[in-house]
Amino acid sequence: MKKQDNMAGYCYVLLLLLALSFGGALVLVYLSRLPQSPVALIRHLQLGELLVLAGAIAVQLNLVNFFKEVSAKAFTDVTGVRDKKALEKHLLELQERSDTLNTGIMMFDLNGLKWVNDNYGHEKGDEFIQTFASYLTRILNSDSFLARFGGDEFVIIQEHTTPQMLESMEGHLRKLVEQYNLGAALPLSYAVGWEVSYKNHYYLMEDLLRTADQNMYIDKSRKKQGRSDEHTHLPAGRHSFPAISEETLIAKIESMLHTRRSYLLVVNDIENFHFINDTFGYQMGNQVLDAFYQKMREEKEILFICRYHSDIFLSVTDITDIGEETALKTTQDRCRRIAEALSCAYPIGNCVIDVGACRMEAGGLSAEEYISRANLACHSAKKNYGHLCYYTEEMAAAEQEHAHIIQSFPSALRNQEFRLYFQPKVDGRTKKIVSAEVLVRWQLPDGSLRAPDSFIPLLERTGEIVQLDYYMYEQSFAWMAAHPGPLPLSLNVSPVHFAHPRSFVKTVQELMKRYRVDPSRVIFEITEGCYIRNTEAVNEVIHELHQQHIRISMDDFGSGYSSLGSLKDINFDEVKIDRRFVADGLSERGEIVLQEIFHVLKRLKKSIVCEGVETAEVSDFLVQAGCDEIQGFLYYRPMPEQEFETLLG
Ligand code: C2E
Ligand code: MG
Ligand code: MG
Repeated sequence: MKKQDNMAGYCYVLLLLLALSFGGALVLVYLSRLPQSPVALIRHLQLGELLVLAGAIAVQLNLVNFFKEVSAKAFTDVTGVRDKKALEKHLLELQERSDTLNTGIMMFDLNGLKWVNDNYGHEKGDEFIQTFASYLTRILNSDSFLARFGGDEFVIIQEHTTPQMLESMEGHLRKLVEQYNLGAALPLSYAVGWEVSYKNHYYLMEDLLRTADQNMYIDKSRKKQGRSDEHTHLPAGRHSFPAISEETLIAKIESMLHTRRSYLLVVNDIENFHFINDTFGYQMGNQVLDAFYQKMREEKEILFICRYHSDIFLSVTDITDIGEETALKTTQDRCRRIAEALSCAYPIGNCVIDVGACRMEAGGLSAEEYISRANLACHSAKKNYGHLCYYTEEMAAAEQEHAHIIQSFPSALRNQEFRLYFQPKVDGRTKKIVSAEVLVRWQLPDGSLRAPDSFIPLLERTGEIVQLDYYMYEQSFAWMAAHPGPLPLSLNVSPVHFAHPRSFVKTVQELMKRYRVDPSRVIFEITEGCYIRNTEAVNEVIHELHQQHIRISMDDFGSGYSSLGSLKDINFDEVKIDRRFVADGLSERGEIVLQEIFHVLKRLKKSIVCEGVETAEVSDFLVQAGCDEIQGFLYYRPMPEQEFETLLG
């Protein structure tokens, strides 16, 4: 709507308000002089007066109606629908309600208005847009509010609605437009996007508008690329790619394996896809999957692509003439390109696509085995730089070993294959043992030992580390009960516990009570990385444990996350400098950094422990700089229970 029209509308409104108040005032003055009772009043009035009064009231009523019409017009566009101001007012009203649930917004963008204006003039352009607006009005009902948002954009706010209802409204519009286009010289086409505020996905009006706008933008870019309308808004569970059964997939790959050519079987996984679903909704997730599939289909080297399951896609390229290396490079480049395009087309942040690949040819393995190889490679790709992994025999062996560890853990725990190893810590000055860290070792039935780094990360993935830690705590508390004295033990706490901080505190309390442990003999080690990632839960645990006079140490301090700034908020009693700090001796710069860190820690009254000390030179420096306790191979290696007891005497 043009500015002048708005101004004229406002002037009308002002004049009418004046006329109304003046006329109203006259009628009131006249009425106030008349008798109060209606019968007396009618008797009192002459016929002429009655007629004049009725006329005045009729004029006022007409004026009221006229006022209504004009004020509505003041918020109305040339297309006859509400304008942006009216829309803003309506949005504000909706926002001020106690909730926005079941409110939907549909955004429409009419294509080609500029082209019509440029080629046929503005009058034709106005007609073009009015035609579209008239079709929009035909899909409305009593819960709709239609407004023109900008030059060629329209908005429908729909109350008491669902995504399905909006979908059906859009379907209705599409049919009307298709019908119109059959005989139209200037056919209509539009992009559309919508969103509804519903229970699992609650929006403020502003967010709702933005999301609908984003969805419309996605639709627009799809249509620009020549996509058909039918895939624009797929209901949850429906996709633009065909569903393929496991049997068909196997048969397809088997048929390729009967040729004399070599292929690259690729498995792609959209990283953190659940994040897209959780944050932007399933509809957005579906659109990303569809877009990935379409883009892969457009690649001429790809012979075959299908969705394997969830966000995992499987594709095949012929590499007979190009060789593995080139094929892998092309595959990686392609996936990067597609990931970039998805990041640009959808508001999903940085999209990363993992690539797992294996070579496939006749006379080798079965289709299932090849699929499992490519899958395995894709699994490892997540951890790899470049997000690409090519299947190798070593990889398979490592993966098999991991599977074996995970599978044998429960029986190993039952059979008490986990042993406590103790690594003493010495006083910096006297070099006397002042405490010890308890470290787990997995002793296999053949007597060999598994180091914690080979199984702890796996158990953290499965969550079973929680059981192992409690087992270690219980054994340590039992050891303390059997060895009274002041020597404290440091126990490691896996980050997994902080998903359920209360349960951790409760279990520790119960175990300590059972073995009557003196709390001053317990130090829990929580890593710096864990603290940074779970600050709130860690602080909650520290608070609870402090109430019971249990000390807390920050393990692996300086391993990559900490900032001096965060030190001021840390409630730890002790800070354990990461062994990587001193691993290769100390450079001059390293010494300066440590001196400064120690200085800050001392002022904050934290006890300082250094681990991984292997040389007397490093040890001397650390003690001079203010380190309270030293743990390292220079003094003691981790040792089994018996040896530790002998050492203590
Ligand atoms: P951590 O808690 O930082 O433990 C110290 C690690 O440094 C131990 O490795 C120890 O053997 C090693 N170490 C000590 N002094 C030296 C030295 O002078 N030179 C070198 N090169 N290494 C030294 P370990 O026993 O292999 O444990 C590795 C990690 O496994 C531990 O790091 C800890 O994060 C984890 N871990 C061990 N036991 C447990 C447990 O019972 N529960 C949990 N959740 N984690 C544990
Ligand atoms: Mg530790
Ligand atoms: Mg450590």
